[in-house]
Amino acid sequence: MVTNTAKSREMKVAIDVDGVLRDFVGSLHKCLIMDGLILENTPMPEITSWGLHQFYPQIESTEEFYDYIFRSESTFNLFSSAPIYKGAKEFMELLEKGHEVGIITSQNEAGWRATLVWLFANQITPPNIHCIRFDLMKADKTIWDYEVILDDKPSHVHEFLDKDRMGFLLDRPWNQEVDLPRVFSYGEFIEELNGME
Ligand SMILES: [Mg+2]
Repeated sequence: MVTNTAKSREMKVAIDVDGVLRDFVGSLHKCLIMDGLILENTPMPEITSWGLHQFYPQIESTEEFYDYIFRSESTFNLFSSAPIYKGAKEFMELLEKGHEVGIITSQNEAGWRATLVWLFANQITPPNIHCIRFDLMKADKTIWDYEVILDDKPSHVHEFLDKDRMGFLLDRPWNQEVDLPRVFSYGEFIEELNGME
């Protein structure tokens, strides 16, 4: 039994997938090249906001762009074969030692199926894995009973703060424009949890 007197109390902690554990934008870029939608030598753009399509002007139609991501023959591969961020697996293992951890991701049906495959393939299998099915429901991530969330999307952190829970943005180039509690690494998030009463 691990006994660590410095350990914080056990908390119910929700972790997002894309942009937190999974390199979705990296996978998208690779898939766009593989499918010939952008040229092979296209450098990875710096994604500095949520309107992802703006960074790929080669694809003129916004609808076509999002159909490619969420509703195409490439959708499954794009999500299921995406790289895991460095340190993400170890982060989840460490977190699960001290806290009750759940995954909350927002996906449509195809993305959800691929995300479950991705989580199991990467051995990220906390006891609770939840999905906001954005193709079926309008809901926020507070519908499940977690005290704190780590997410890269400002609106999800807001949802938690609005309900007097805690939320942290994981610092990414696409979430710079907001003033919310922010951590710059997995380790910093764990430190924040350890500092909570
Ligand atoms: Mg995300």
